[in-house]
Amino acid sequence: MKSQDIRSKFLSFFKEKQHTIVSSAPMVLKDDPTLMFVNSGMAPFKEYFLGNAQPKSNRITDTQKCLRVSGKHNDLEEVGYDTYHHTLFEMLGNWSFGDYFKKEAIAWSWELLTEVFGIDKDILYVTVFEGSKDDNLEMDNEAYDLWKLFVSEDRILKGNKKDNFWEMGDQGPCGPCSEIHVDIRSAEEKAKVSGKDLVNMDHPQVVEIWNLVFMQYNRKANGSLESLPNKHIDTGMGFERLCMVLQGVQSNYDTDVFTPIIKEVETITNKNYGTDEKIDVAIRVISDHVRAVAFSIADGQLPSNTGAGYVIRRILRRAVRYGFTFLDKKEPFIYRLVDILSKKMGTAFPELKAQKQLIENVIKEEEQSFLRTLDQGLILLNRIVEETKGDTVSGEKAFELYDTYGFPIDLTALILSEKGLKLDEEGFNKELEKQKKRSRAASEMTTDDWTILHNDAEEEFVGYDTLEANVKLTRYRKVTSKKDGEMYQLVFNLTPFYAEGGGQVGDKGYLEDAHGDVVYILDTKKENNVIIHFTKNLPNDINKSFKAVVDAKQRYRTECNHTATHLLHQALREVLGTHVEQKGSAVHSKYLRFDFSHFSKLTVEELRDVENFVNRRIEGKLPLIEKRNIPKEEAIADGAMSLFGEKYGDTVRAIRFGQSVELCGGTHVKNTGDIWHFKIVSEGAVAAGIRRIEAITNDAVKDFYFENNRAYFEMKDLLNNAQEPVKALQNLQEENTSLKKQIEVLLKDKAKNIKGELKSELQEVNGIQFLAKKLDLDASGIKDVAFELGSQFENLFLLFGAEQNGKALLSCYISKELVASKGLNAGLVVRELGKYIQGGGGGQPFFATAGGKNPDGIDEALEKAKTYLT
Ligand code: ATP
Ligand code: MG
Repeated sequence: MKSQDIRSKFLSFFKEKQHTIVSSAPMVLKDDPTLMFVNSGMAPFKEYFLGNAQPKSNRITDTQKCLRVSGKHNDLEEVGYDTYHHTLFEMLGNWSFGDYFKKEAIAWSWELLTEVFGIDKDILYVTVFEGSKDDNLEMDNEAYDLWKLFVSEDRILKGNKKDNFWEMGDQGPCGPCSEIHVDIRSAEEKAKVSGKDLVNMDHPQVVEIWNLVFMQYNRKANGSLESLPNKHIDTGMGFERLCMVLQGVQSNYDTDVFTPIIKEVETITNKNYGTDEKIDVAIRVISDHVRAVAFSIADGQLPSNTGAGYVIRRILRRAVRYGFTFLDKKEPFIYRLVDILSKKMGTAFPELKAQKQLIENVIKEEEQSFLRTLDQGLILLNRIVEETKGDTVSGEKAFELYDTYGFPIDLTALILSEKGLKLDEEGFNKELEKQKKRSRAASEMTTDDWTILHNDAEEEFVGYDTLEANVKLTRYRKVTSKKDGEMYQLVFNLTPFYAEGGGQVGDKGYLEDAHGDVVYILDTKKENNVIIHFTKNLPNDINKSFKAVVDAKQRYRTECNHTATHLLHQALREVLGTHVEQKGSAVHSKYLRFDFSHFSKLTVEELRDVENFVNRRIEGKLPLIEKRNIPKEEAIADGAMSLFGEKYGDTVRAIRFGQSVELCGGTHVKNTGDIWHFKIVSEGAVAAGIRRIEAITNDAVKDFYFENNRAYFEMKDLLNNAQEPVKALQNLQEENTSLKKQIEVLLKDKAKNIKGELKSELQEVNGIQFLAKKLDLDASGIKDVAFELGSQFENLFLLFGAEQNGKALLSCYISKELVASKGLNAGLVVRELGKYIQGGGGGQPFFATAGGKNPDGIDEALEKAKTYLT
């Protein structure tokens, strides 16, 4: 059965059981402080389990893009070495939110696997939770008895907390689970060892395919468990593993999910899969990683230096490294796999097809830049090798290469071993540990349990219509971190405070009680669906109501920038073309930033056209037309665009100003006229094919013009109030250039005179014409003198010292004949004498220079010069 059919069979099976099919949520999470990427099918539904939101249906089925490369679930280092763990994989799932429980979940899983997919019962094993003393939990007898209806008892195994108790994180919903394992070994192998003994033993042919989680508890911050009011079902089946079983192969990489990619790698690299284990690992790594990286970029997460972007960058670099080391690919090639990937998966995941060109460009540029890093790293590594005495390179040096230059440690080890050197791995690991400790200490945070004051109220956002409201605290908790100290997080029954989201910053403001006591709200953020207000202190009377007031000025400035962002988006599509797509935005009170896809730098004319377009719509005083809670289809029909990687609810909010229509949850001015004026302050590249515009509006524009005006008058003043200051400045610049030229000529003359003097000062030592002297010339002057003298002798040894701007310079000249006959080397001389001036340098055997920060050492260096003549 083809993988596409397997996926749709799964979904239609549960559809027949009254489940609603939903599409995969974006893989990159935006409002979740505990998780960067969706790492299991349940992550997008967390809010339903926590009771913060209501699902549209209490039975859902889906296939979810998951990425396990960081945090609690991290399979990155396994990938490539085994045949069944991926970074990115699809998790097929069926979900019950307070509806059916163990009985149906177990019966249906068995029906699907054995009857619909026809898997032989005799290759399946199931597990149940054996209980745990720590948590005071008994064995899951309920599940055991249910399994007994289908499976013989010798195939029902008991498992411990590690394998059979599923937890989302340190806190939150959790429960016992039952896993289904397959044993796909040959009959011969099975006769030797029973499959029973290999379940959960990391055997590549006895693997878990499906996990049925019975959510019935909530783990509190103190580690204790409480029962959930509603019980839920959360199941996850690895799609690629299921394909392996149904296609009768021994490895996920031999299924049609991967074979087309692997074929393409073989063609591009001219290597064969299945002949050499090292090459196979590399091919698996690359085939796996290109999927993870491509899907992330399609979801809007570009490789970068921080956070989720950095994780993606590291995955891609891991792939480049394996290609570089084991497949001899020294030029970009991974981007060339995107074509086949989008052909094979673009139907199930249209975002891949739609953004193929962008994904290719971004990957190619990342590959190029990392290959440059590798080249540079090789040069540095060679230098380290040259300087190494003995046969071991220190861990500190290797760590520096790794940490500062991003040069991978395994490559360092490999290259050293080729040169017959060893790497002090222990020293390296020590440095790595030290660094980890430093960053752990910086990010450590403790979060208390919520103290619940009112349970029933669902928080409502009223901030589109008002900046002030009477609110009641429904829950709060304390969060302690090194960075911010103690902070409180407050949740109200309703709030006028906008929580950071959709690029727009969170509101600031204050809470005031009946006595006029005030607590400042420093920031507002969303955690999944809940709006959280950050304060330094807890208000006094937490059970009374408060007046909650948003900082109106900040909000207004932010709104000007948000509306301007929409107009800018429209302007760019109008001026540059409809290939322009929003790739990120940041809307602050002081400025806005907008990233978009476009392939070349904007010309001055284009920038002017864009600015004019926006300003014309500001002058046009277009009113805000807002439609709340309309079906997404209606908004799209109205002209709104939906963005890849955004998670939209069933209903959306559409914001229109004239012809600009966007799906947007942010806050806006009532009329574009409020913005007053729009000004672009910068335009540049952020990644291949992605440009960034920064712009300002309203008060910030006034400040901008005021500042520029002030600078202009100051400049004019300095130019003695010239009528035409630009011309006056040009004249000054010309004068400056011509003076510089004159100085150069004078210095050359001076050098000529000096040359005569120096010639008379030469001493003969051991048949060598020798001079070591401090000169009052710059580096190029000294070089001229040395070379001119050099042209007159065949046995010259010169060492000149000079002091310039508090720095020291040594220059050494040795006639080529001496270099040949006596083995003298100017590079060596300056490197050794460089230590007296606290510096270093190098060059050719006949001429070399060193710079240093200690001019006081020049004399000593000059004195030592003679020692080279003996
Ligand atoms: P394993 O022990 O094999 O790593 P797991 O216990 O981490 O699996 P779960 O967290 O229960 O797996 O995930 C549910 C299912 O998702 C698994 O049964 C498996 O089929 C699949 N799965 C888990 N991790 C991966 C991965 N890295 N690559 C591919 N499939 C995976
Ligand atoms: Mg795992």
